[in-house]
Amino acid sequence: MHILARRARRGKAVRSTFQQVLGKPIDIVTNFPIDLANLERAALESALVERGHKRFHARQIFRWLYARGVTDIAAMTDLSRELRAALASEFTVATPEIVVHERSTDGTEKFLLRLADGLQLESVFIPDTPSMTFCVSTQVGCAMACAFCLTGKMGLVRNLTAGEIAGQVRVLAGALDMRHKKFNIVLMGMGEPLHNYDETMRALRILNDEHGFAMSPRRVTLSTVGLLPALEKMAHEPIMPNLAISLHAPTDELRGELVPLNKKYGVGEIIAACKRFPQTKRSRITFEYVLLAGVNDSPEDARKLARLLSGVKSKVNIIPLNAAPGIPFERPSDTAIDQFAQILAERGLIVSVRKSRGRDIRAACGQLIVEGPRRSPGQALAAVLHTETFKGKTRNVEA
Ligand code: SAH
Repeated sequence: MHILARRARRGKAVRSTFQQVLGKPIDIVTNFPIDLANLERAALESALVERGHKRFHARQIFRWLYARGVTDIAAMTDLSRELRAALASEFTVATPEIVVHERSTDGTEKFLLRLADGLQLESVFIPDTPSMTFCVSTQVGCAMACAFCLTGKMGLVRNLTAGEIAGQVRVLAGALDMRHKKFNIVLMGMGEPLHNYDETMRALRILNDEHGFAMSPRRVTLSTVGLLPALEKMAHEPIMPNLAISLHAPTDELRGELVPLNKKYGVGEIIAACKRFPQTKRSRITFEYVLLAGVNDSPEDARKLARLLSGVKSKVNIIPLNAAPGIPFERPSDTAIDQFAQILAERGLIVSVRKSRGRDIRAACGQLIVEGPRRSPGQALAAVLHTETFKGKTRNVEA
């Protein structure tokens, strides 16, 4: 059945929609229930007023959805019975559904979530880092195809809506009983947030709402592979998260092999954009560097990296590779990791080595890939690579 027809069956104005589709063009979307969770408060206010309701109910609805975690319109009891009935016919609330909730031996918790259209994604809770952190996805899959990233092997399946991005936070905060506790958000799950710019920024505005989670942008970190036009745009956003750049190599030659996008936006341009990026007195840009044995972990690479970052208010986050089937790289030895970090530190850089969390449940960086009966082409590829080419190697790495 045609998608519009299928949606129309659920919509209110089925008959008139079909008549109008056959006749003159109409704005079909207005005939269908709108997802409340996908609206900023200002947009919700307009939608309410357009339907003859009072603007201030938007505040109440936000409190129900975010502060109280109530998604059933009928249960929003400070709204009149009539209003609830009207709203229930005009609006829906789409909430990702928890399919699997796994807990790692180190306390990391991974959530496999199902979206309204059946697609699945992953979000991760990382406790005590020292703060509580939600690692949230912005896309199902990812188009960036970084050579060491498992999500990249899935390809891009689709962008998430703002409601689905903020919805992960709603679901995790509810499941972990953290709705009224302080937590950080890192946009480091599946996907490239700047490749889904508008929805990601809208999600941040929804989360920032004083009647929602009132999430300060200082508690949010957006990690990007360096989509420059979007990065420049973000520099003018009123709600601007902390910035993390997935650098992984100090030269174009090497980075080009690991991060395909580098062919478009090179290392020099990215660093120049970072130098221009507005920063508060205390904030620093994080540079993530996935350390791959024998590829980008030499003392010379460390020295080049230190030179590259001189003059940038930065900190370096070394992420020793999280190996996974289908990823043709190895994690360096602890000695090599320490040596690399030491060279940076000696040159005055702030360095941290990311402790790998949740590896036993594949919740660690770059290990988020939706596994299920319906495999994406990328997943199938990863499985083939594992069994035919890299099996021996992977076993060595994980041993
Ligand atoms: N697309 C964004 C955010 C998602 S990934 C970005 O690239 O920044 C978050 C971090 O995990 C990135 O720095 C990414 O390069 C890193 N990562 C990806 N695969 C990894 C792996 N197998 N091991 C360790 N880190 C990985």
